[in-house]
Amino acid sequence: MDVSIVVPIYNEYENLPLLYEQLVGVLDTLERGCEVLLVDDGSTDGSEARLRELARRDDRVKVVRFRRNYGQTAALQAGLQLAEGDVIVTMDGDLQNDPRDIHMMLDKIDQGYDLVHGWRKDRQDAWLNRRLPSQLANWLISRVTRFPIHDLGCTLKAIRRDIAQELELYGEMHRFIPILAHARGARCLEVVTRHHARQHGQTKYGISRTIRVVLDLITVKYLLSYFASPMKLFGAVGLATTLLALLALAGTVGMKIFRSVDMTGNPLLLLAACGMVAAIQFFSLGLLGEVSARIYFRGADRQHYAVRELLNFESAHTTARFPEARRAA
Ligand code: UDP
Ligand code: MG
Repeated sequence: MDVSIVVPIYNEYENLPLLYEQLVGVLDTLERGCEVLLVDDGSTDGSEARLRELARRDDRVKVVRFRRNYGQTAALQAGLQLAEGDVIVTMDGDLQNDPRDIHMMLDKIDQGYDLVHGWRKDRQDAWLNRRLPSQLANWLISRVTRFPIHDLGCTLKAIRRDIAQELELYGEMHRFIPILAHARGARCLEVVTRHHARQHGQTKYGISRTIRVVLDLITVKYLLSYFASPMKLFGAVGLATTLLALLALAGTVGMKIFRSVDMTGNPLLLLAACGMVAAIQFFSLGLLGEVSARIYFRGADRQHYAVRELLNFESAHTTARFPEARRAA
């Protein structure tokens, strides 16, 4: 299998037949082995029957049905885990992405990129409640993670399967796929893709999504910068609070000696006490984080580094430890 197309589907009844037509039109010209994974994220509008129909008609179409609606991230994650193609293409099921871009994206993968993500430069959505918040969120995320990006919300992406399957996506985290993959050493490229207005069905999101994305950003920043060594974050804050507490204490004593200010009546003493307690808590949090990182990375399939290539390694033991690594032929 060369290419897996993964599409999350939630109440896209009218779009499904059109999506299939569009996809088949492109797949037939790809000259690669293809499968289409449609992940039904608990649709309630009759999409199910249409999915069954498509799966019956074409055995390249595989359908995963969730028990209930878990959200787009879960749907994408399931598709990524089940895909068998060397390259996975993800796209929306509402015809807003254009499968005609797939050719170009696969070419980029062939050129050596690990992940190619779309930029809906000419995005066809409402400005005030969709494009503006999205632009602000993208700008903020780009600043915080130092990853140059214009459009994280574009589902149209092509990604090598080994990298896709290393990602752990929760919450709204499918938007951070390029950033998470980049942190694992993926060579990423942003390309301008087409975008169409939604013709059928409704968008599942509103302005509230922006808030959830920003909260996820805090998590992602932590994962990127401090997950493997939490003491670097909590220890630094702990040291700062210790310093503050010591300054406050020195201030209290100094005011007692030189100005005869009553120590117990001096609010600085309170600051010193609170500062010390907070510092102890930050250090403890750092230690707990260090311990949990060690437990997390003890799993055989989890490393805090990723290997691109192994040369001259013969033993099955080594190669099994790094399934992601290419081996010299
Ligand atoms: N989707 C999903 N589960 C959800 C919400 C959305 O699988 O809980 C799918 C939806 O069917 C579509 C894609 O995710 O294929 C993008 O959703 P939508 O078009 O509503 O997002 P927008 O393009 O408005 O950002
Ligand atoms: Mg859409």
